[in-house]
Formats: sequence, structure tokens, C-alpha cells
Amino acid sequence: MPNGRQSVVAEDDLVENFHPATAGERHLPRDLVVWDETLRDGEQTPGVRFSPEEKLRIAELLSEIGVGVIDAGIPVVSDDEARAVRGIAHAGLRAKILASARTVPRDVEAVIDSGVSHIAIFVAASRVHLKYKLKMGPDEVVAASRACVRRAKEAGLHVAFVTEDTVRAPFDFVERLYGAATEEGADRLVVADTVGIMTPLTFRWYLTEFVRRVRPRDLSVHCHNDFGLATANTLAAIEVGARTPHLCVNGLGERAGNASLEEVVVALETLYDYRTGIRTERLYELSRLVEELSGIPVAPNRALVGYNAFSHEAGIHTHGILAHTLTYEPLQPSTVGRQRQMILGKHTGKAALVEKLKERGLSAPDPLLVELLQRVKLDAEQRTKDDLHRFLLEYRDRFDRPGLSDEEFWSLVDAVGITAVKA
Ligand code: MN
Repeated sequence: MPNGRQSVVAEDDLVENFHPATAGERHLPRDLVVWDETLRDGEQTPGVRFSPEEKLRIAELLSEIGVGVIDAGIPVVSDDEARAVRGIAHAGLRAKILASARTVPRDVEAVIDSGVSHIAIFVAASRVHLKYKLKMGPDEVVAASRACVRRAKEAGLHVAFVTEDTVRAPFDFVERLYGAATEEGADRLVVADTVGIMTPLTFRWYLTEFVRRVRPRDLSVHCHNDFGLATANTLAAIEVGARTPHLCVNGLGERAGNASLEEVVVALETLYDYRTGIRTERLYELSRLVEELSGIPVAPNRALVGYNAFSHEAGIHTHGILAHTLTYEPLQPSTVGRQRQMILGKHTGKAALVEKLKERGLSAPDPLLVELLQRVKLDAEQRTKDDLHRFLLEYRDRFDRPGLSDEEFWSLVDAVGITAVKA
């Protein structure tokens, strides 16, 4: 962490090492607003679909823990989606409820009809997107954006203007497009690293230049995790003043996902000593709810919310943790609503057994401890790998194709009556 002050340090026994030159270059926003994308980009994770009731459950918890803006979805997608957005918009939540729209009039009308107070209007910006996807010229993109932002403002909505693939677009066009949106009254500008190709230093430079050229009133960023850099890039953006990061619970989202809500929030709180307004002690509860409703399992080694994030097995580590948790834990598990776990296995040492025996008020002389330790290790080593392999195979099977199976798809083709065209 080149820029973070190690504020976790509460003990005289630890030394704070941080780069003195970078500390002064941080311009953290005074009032960060967490913009959650779990119900929109997160739902675009292949195979994920939340029912309107499930979306509401997640939105309620997001709002309770202090998320400022919730993207509830894209109402024009389907009746179900429109119903979900309406339900959340009328649930009386503290968070501002936002819905998304392309720069297409019926998309914007669907958002207005849904009763939300906030809209995100998005359009692609890079040449590759304009040429191959939108098949629109720059002038058409600017005109469509102007018309949609104007319409949403007329309807009284708070407007965020988003471009997809911002960072691969010509800067002159970006400046022109965002300038047009601002002229029409856009309240917040979102820069998107849609395919996750930024690095922290490059993104820092890009956003500094963006701020200089576009002068956004309120800068927001949308980072993808294709190279595992979404959290780092989001933090780099916040360091140069981005106020409204787009985040997803468990890092869900298209492909490798978005910046993870829990990682960015807890990094800010712990490594930057910055108050986000999020009730971090409920983050694990939120992660479990989203895991359950999305059906996307959290990897055991995932930061903060993975099952192993606060587990210790190795004898040396367990011994250290039992002596003082700061030896091998940078933060208390309770920070995110979790408990420390000591795992008994091949790498266990005596200290863990002494501690475990205390649970039943037991203590043992050394020879018995040694014997118990040998048996624990032997037992762990003798376990077959069959269970693990079976689990992995089932997991892969399920995620090889999370949507409709080929069989299901082709039977629908038959049902619709699509047949080969005879030459
Ligand atoms: Mn995205």
C-alpha cells in the first residue's frame, strides 16, 4: 500500500512504515458515497438472477448498513425487472434508489415511470464500441446523450452520466461528451474502466487529467476486475477525489466482476483511517445473503468474507495468534462481523490443542499433549481426497454453463418452430 497510513497500529510494538512523499498527494473526498451495483452489474454475473423479492431483501440490507446509492436495475429489461425497481423505489429506504438507462428514450421513460429519484444514463465512448457495437458516429452519441440527460432532468431526476469504456476512448471525445452531459444538467459523472485495463498509477493519472479537463462536480468510478485490480484502482481513484465508487458485494459483476464493496470499504476504514459511514460489522451478513441469493459461492481465500480469511491452522501462526492477534491478523474479525477460527489439521501445533482443551476446562501434561498432537496430525493426513474432488467436480459441472443447458435451449427452438431454411 504505497499511499496508506497503517492506522491499524494501536500498539507501541509496531512500526508504521509508509511512503512519506505520497501521503501528501492524497485528496480523499470529504463525503464518500458508496454506490452499490450488486443488483445491476452484479446481477449481470453469468447465471445470476434475483427475483424482485430477493432484490428488495438485498436492497434493505444495503440501505441499513449505510450504502448511499443503490442501482436497482434496468427497468426496460423486462416486466419483472421493472417491478423489482418499483418495489425498491417505494420501500421507503434511506438509500437513494437509482435505475439505469441506455441513451434510448424508452429506457429513460421506463426509469421515470419506476418512481426512482436517481438515474444513470450510459452510452459507450470508445471507438471500438461506437464502430462495432453502437454503429453510431460521435455526433450521434453526443446528441442522444444530450436528449436523454435533458429529459431526465426535466422529470426531476438526479442524473449520473456514465460512459462505457471511458478509458479507451479518445480524450477529446470524452471531454466533449461529458461537457455536453454537464451542460444538460448531469449531476454526477462516472468514468468506467469497463474491461479492467487500468493500473493504479495509470488510473490516477487518467482521473487527474479528467478532472482538469472536464471539471466534474461529482466524480464517480466504475472499475472491473479482469486483472484483479478493481479494488486497487478504485482506491487509487478515491485518492484523487472520486467520491462515489461503484462497488459490488462479493465483487460480483460481469466476467471477473467489479470492485468489491467489502474490500474497498474496509481498506478505507482500516488502511486509510477514513470513515465511510458503512456499518462494517454487518458486511459478513451482507456477503452471506448475496452468496445465498446469487448462488455464486465466495472463494475460501477471498479477502475479508472468504471462509479462510480469519482461520488459522499452521502451528507457528496459531501460536502467534494466541500470544497476540496482531502477529498474523491485520484487523480484528469482529470488524466485519466474523469470528476467528482455529483449524485442527496436519499443520496444528501444541498451543492450539492447549487452547482447544480449555473449551471443556481440560488441561493435559506434555506427554499426553504430544500423543494427542500426533493423533490429530495422523488423522488429518489419512483423510482421502475423494470428498474434495467430488466437491470440485460438482462445482465445475454447475458453473461450466450456469444458464440454460444446450438441451433446454434447443427444445425451446423446437417449441418456437424454428426450422432450417431450405436453399
Ligand atoms: Mn460494468
